[in-house]
Amino acid sequence: MALDPSRLRAEFPILSRRIGDRPLVYLDTAATSQKPRAVIDAMTRYYEQMNANVHRGAYRLSEEATAMYEGVREKVARFLGAPGPEGVVFVRNTTEAINLVAHAWGRKFLKAGDEVLLTEMEHHSNLVPWHLLAKERGVVLRHIPITDDGRLDLSRLDALLGSRTKLVSLVHVSNVLGTVNPVEDVVRAAHRVGALCLVDGAQAVPHRPVDLAAIGCDFYAFSAHKMYGPTGIGVLWARPEILAGMDPFMVGGETILEVRLDRSTFREAPYRFEPGTPAVAEAAGLGAAIDWLTALGLDAVEAHETALVDHAWRRLAEVPGIRMYGPSSGPRAGAVCFTTDPIHPHDLATCLDQDGLAVRAGHHCAQPLMTRLGTVATARASFGVYTLPSEIDLLVDSILRTREFFGCR
Ligand code: PMP
Repeated sequence: MALDPSRLRAEFPILSRRIGDRPLVYLDTAATSQKPRAVIDAMTRYYEQMNANVHRGAYRLSEEATAMYEGVREKVARFLGAPGPEGVVFVRNTTEAINLVAHAWGRKFLKAGDEVLLTEMEHHSNLVPWHLLAKERGVVLRHIPITDDGRLDLSRLDALLGSRTKLVSLVHVSNVLGTVNPVEDVVRAAHRVGALCLVDGAQAVPHRPVDLAAIGCDFYAFSAHKMYGPTGIGVLWARPEILAGMDPFMVGGETILEVRLDRSTFREAPYRFEPGTPAVAEAAGLGAAIDWLTALGLDAVEAHETALVDHAWRRLAEVPGIRMYGPSSGPRAGAVCFTTDPIHPHDLATCLDQDGLAVRAGHHCAQPLMTRLGTVATARASFGVYTLPSEIDLLVDSILRTREFFGCR
């Protein structure tokens, strides 16, 4: 069934806020989504009814909290189409998930001359962890280039893959261009040369159905806060047999089987990767976000947001001096990126804020991509289930007013 964003908006308390005398027009969902009442209530309920540490107490509250926390692990596995909860590691966010792979898998299995294949459209969190590994271990980094319209240039893939390639790590949906990458094809190509494949799903999970069985990757990472859940929790899914071979990265309580004064042994995965007291209330929020999104239907979410992106491309084309970045046709998700010469994106975002519009301006944590696009910064409007086409119309009106203010036609 089609989404009814006007009805859904009533479930988001923050959307009734005003910015000065204007209603809030929130067009920065790619940075973080707003939270529905169901998620806020689930976290409050946890604190009011169930708060106790998990995996520790032999008393009712702790048992209930543990059952809830482990229940969310199972829910995540079902949501992603993963075979079971064993591969679900709770982390803080996508950034931590990728760092965990770079540390616990990369440092154990990669040596000088091994290659990690990335792309030109990665977020810094899928570049910088590999830079450290390259520096420390002599691992060689390669990059799949992008075409001028912001798609992966897969004609180069076979030439970039070889017997030295140990990992291909790429973004599922670009946070800048909105490009939906054909990750299934990349995973198959990586596996043909014996490499593993990591997919950064931070911008995919909130916007479209994700089925790990169909994608076939070895690692998948996402953050709850971009999919209507809370900050402070994210997921690394890893193939359980790979996780079992990885050594712990951060250690302490929870990760261990037995500790002597001079040595310790570690629990099985995923617990050996979750040191200390976890984000339990946030897990309750993530579980509620998954239930809420599943009830909406990810197919309906995808259809709604594809229509929004198409509408945005059509309407923004009316703005004089506009330059759009990314594919001019689908598949695209969630975000549109643009500049309106000669106005700097930061100035534009500041002026839009006067009209109550929240858009992001800058390099979007993708400086190498900005260089490839021939700019240092862009403005980005990004959408969610609550975004209305009329908000995109307000964006266009506000950009036109800003151009007038700057004296440009
Ligand atoms: N990858 C992509 C594609 C993203 O959009 C983001 C967030 N902008 C991240 C990774 C990092 O997510 P987080 O800040 O939640 O770790």
